[in-house]
Amino acid sequence: MRTYHEPARDVPVARDTEVVVVGGGPAGLAAAIAAARNGAKTTLIERFGYLGGTATASLMACINGFRNQVEPDGMQTVRGIAEEIILRLKELGGLGESPYPQKDYPTEPGQLSYSYAVDTEKLKYVTLKMAVEAGVDLMFHTYFCDSIYSGAQLRCLLVAARSLHGVIAENKSGRQALLAKVVVDASGDADVAARAGAPFWQTKEQEAPRLTDGLMYRIEFGSRRPAGHLACDFGRNAVVWGPSVPVMDGTDADQLSRAEVEARLRVYEDFAGKQAEHPELADASVVETPPLLGIRQTRFVEGEYKLTADDAISGRRFEENVAMSSCPIISYYGYRRYLEHEGYGIPYRCLVPKNVENLLIAGRCISSEQQPYESHRAMAPIMAIGQAAGTAAALSAQHSTSPRALDVRHLQRTLVAQGAELGLERAARGG
Ligand SMILES: Cc1cc2nc3c(=O)[nH]c(=O)nc-3n(C[C@H](O)[C@H](O)[C@H](O)COP(=O)(O)OP(=O)(O)OC[C@H]3O[C@@H](n4cnc5c(N)ncnc54)[C@H](O)[C@@H]3O)c2cc1C
Repeated sequence: MRTYHEPARDVPVARDTEVVVVGGGPAGLAAAIAAARNGAKTTLIERFGYLGGTATASLMACINGFRNQVEPDGMQTVRGIAEEIILRLKELGGLGESPYPQKDYPTEPGQLSYSYAVDTEKLKYVTLKMAVEAGVDLMFHTYFCDSIYSGAQLRCLLVAARSLHGVIAENKSGRQALLAKVVVDASGDADVAARAGAPFWQTKEQEAPRLTDGLMYRIEFGSRRPAGHLACDFGRNAVVWGPSVPVMDGTDADQLSRAEVEARLRVYEDFAGKQAEHPELADASVVETPPLLGIRQTRFVEGEYKLTADDAISGRRFEENVAMSSCPIISYYGYRRYLEHEGYGIPYRCLVPKNVENLLIAGRCISSEQQPYESHRAMAPIMAIGQAAGTAAALSAQHSTSPRALDVRHLQRTLVAQGAELGLERAARGG
């Protein structure tokens, strides 16, 4: 490949802070709110001008995973910030009808249903309000470009690991350095970890089928509407599942562009298919496509522990649980595998990457095999993971300790005191 030598230059230090969160999706927004609520000076950078990530920028308007979708569903496995968002949306009339078959709970604290369709505009508002109230310093329209680190990449056991000191970002003001004691990588694609030299992988098709990506779109009903709920249903309009694209690498800019082109050119054909299936949609119309194709999976970061299919299927609880998931594995070798227990644990070690200090991973790219990922990728558990990462980042920064050396019991006590569900009682009993 031909190369161009970019000359080195000095860049301004735009922030010198305690915690920087990269990415304002479900994981990143929960991480930033949690870090700031725990007293850390926190900056969040996000390429769009609002929070929500896939939920808002890709119109994925159904937040799933507050409890098992089927019995045994007695335990609400995700509480904390994720629950608060749903309750605030309820107050604002921001909940619609979820298309997922489920038992309806009353939507009270500790009494949430498996899934909620959410008004994406109200979700932008509620999450922004919560971030502002917590004191998060928001840098929108800002793109993470590189990691700032010292130390060599771990090539053999004799070489020290890298220490992360912040990130380089680019926005309308130009290229800037943001220094931090701890960085939370909530970019979904593990951009920070990859640039810092943490080991990562992408699932290979021959090992396990990957989830495909897809473009959602919003339709407005005309004079009639189909009986029942059409995807995420908001009465006069609905967000429907649109064209999906063949498996591609969402961290490859050319493949990503081609996938956007392909999906966008198929929207009206896709809608015509739905109209043929539901004649009531004859005078309905497509009113919105989101800025970004929904990307389900890209890189996974190798952490101190990799969550396994057996952990999820057997309902394992770890002594160092920091979040839980009870979601089905959505395509377990081709079928939706519901869990036969109330939920399994996600240990802190899945958020701690190998080889890089001062970095925590939050969101869909944590250290996990394909099958458990297909469960905890749902947005409720993803927010619980984000809350754990943000809280851990704040505690690490305050105690001037690396996240790897953090006292996990202290983290757990803090999370529980702030309303998170960790499923610890069962772990203590060895369940
Ligand atoms: C088609 C589809 C259907 C789905 N269906 C459901 C469903 O029904 N229910 C459910 O609960 N979940 C569903 N999911 C899964 C869920 O949406 C994701 O797993 C979840 O959003 C992951 O959250 P995250 O915060 O880790 O990453 P993301 O949502 O990907 O957020 C990452 C954020 O980081 C920002 N970012 C990325 N790179 C940079 C950068 N370099 N600089 C600055 N900012 C950056 C992005 O703009 C984004 O805001 C679906 C996903 C897809 C794609």
